[in-house]
Amino acid sequence: MSANPAPSTPTTRFAPSPTGRLHVGNIRTALHNFLAARQAGGRFLLRIDDTDAERSREEYVEAIREDLAWLGMTPDGEERQSERLELYERAFERLVEDGRVYRAYETAQELELKRKILLGRGKPPIYDRAALALTDAERSEKEAQGIVPHWRFKLDHESPIIWDDAVRGPQKFDAAQMSDPVIRRADNSWLYMLPSAIDDIDMAITQVLRGEDHVSNTAVQIQMFEALGASPPAFAHTALLVGREGKLSKRLGSLGCDAFREQDYEPMAINALLARLGTSKPVEPIASMAELIETFDLSSFGRAPAKFDEAELARINAQIVHQLPFEAVSGFVPEGFTPEAWHAIRPNLEKKSEVVEWWQTVTGPITQPEFSAEDRSYLAEAASLLEWDENPWQKLTGALKDRTGRKGRALFLPLRQALTGRDHGPDMGELLLLIGEEEARARLEAASKA
Ligand code: GLU
Repeated sequence: MSANPAPSTPTTRFAPSPTGRLHVGNIRTALHNFLAARQAGGRFLLRIDDTDAERSREEYVEAIREDLAWLGMTPDGEERQSERLELYERAFERLVEDGRVYRAYETAQELELKRKILLGRGKPPIYDRAALALTDAERSEKEAQGIVPHWRFKLDHESPIIWDDAVRGPQKFDAAQMSDPVIRRADNSWLYMLPSAIDDIDMAITQVLRGEDHVSNTAVQIQMFEALGASPPAFAHTALLVGREGKLSKRLGSLGCDAFREQDYEPMAINALLARLGTSKPVEPIASMAELIETFDLSSFGRAPAKFDEAELARINAQIVHQLPFEAVSGFVPEGFTPEAWHAIRPNLEKKSEVVEWWQTVTGPITQPEFSAEDRSYLAEAASLLEWDENPWQKLTGALKDRTGRKGRALFLPLRQALTGRDHGPDMGELLLLIGEEEARARLEAASKA
């Protein structure tokens, strides 16, 4: 590890498998772990769960790092399971010696058959531990037949498994009602369960926050921690994320961080929404990570599925864009764009990148609509009345009102259309100052002649 923290340092980890991009579900888990660590003044680690060499891809490892950095959740350390196999081997050997793991020889078909028989009898399909009952001679015979064993972890049936879950409250599992989990395949490759527990011990993880799909894994892993001579970390299992329609849709599963970036969502909009979904706290356009850290509270999490709605993300995004300082856009806006322009245009944006098209309404060229003969003469009058001072818009509309008797929409809309080519948009008072006297007069004159 990058540093040697005191054993009591609050430490969380985000442990994705690099088999795809980050998506809303695991961004949310990463965020919970990040916020919990920062709030406690502790460490947030990234653990790449890449023991599955076939499905893990380097490009996804890089994408995960980039996405976390983009979201503002740069970890304090990174570990890769594929580089820690030696550690797993040693822990495994200890468990073999202690009789906590055992060889099993059933094929997938045999196991399936056992399952069906039990289910047919109305019984839960719990593995019968037949392999544990084999004698040495029977085992040798199997191996002489060329059957390579896989390995199971032997659950302790005597003591109930209990923990106080920070979201779900007190949890109790009966190990006798569970199958001894397969932890290692016949080809010696690892399944997720044991390496994760070994790592959580070795990395001194103090709190594991993850989705409720891991609740039964936690029951097993608690026994693994104990078998390895360690006390388990604290656990919190959050209710799953579902789409607006109430189930985890394909679309939600595929809503990756890359899609969010392409669609120009603000990272803080994603964070602000995901930090509050599924909690009793309101979703608010919180633009500062410090505020999310400060207000993170596991006791506010509910048991009902958290609903993700992209329309809500769009709304929060707009509200966050409306708070962004000029510096947030100064890097990509065209030359000449000023803080005053940002101030005028900002309230009109849903996405930051839209600033470019709005700036074009200032700099031109613009496309004006066709005006009626009446509006044309109105606009000719506007061109002749235009006078520049610190608020030319107020002056112009005041004068036009007096002269023509027009008011409301009839007074304002032709002017906005002639000056910007649009029916709606930023405050005309601010916009007119940006367009400038000469250009504004030219636009009004052009509209009056069209
Ligand atoms: N790699 C596992 C997953 O993505 C990690 C689960 C855990 O947090 O322990 O589901």
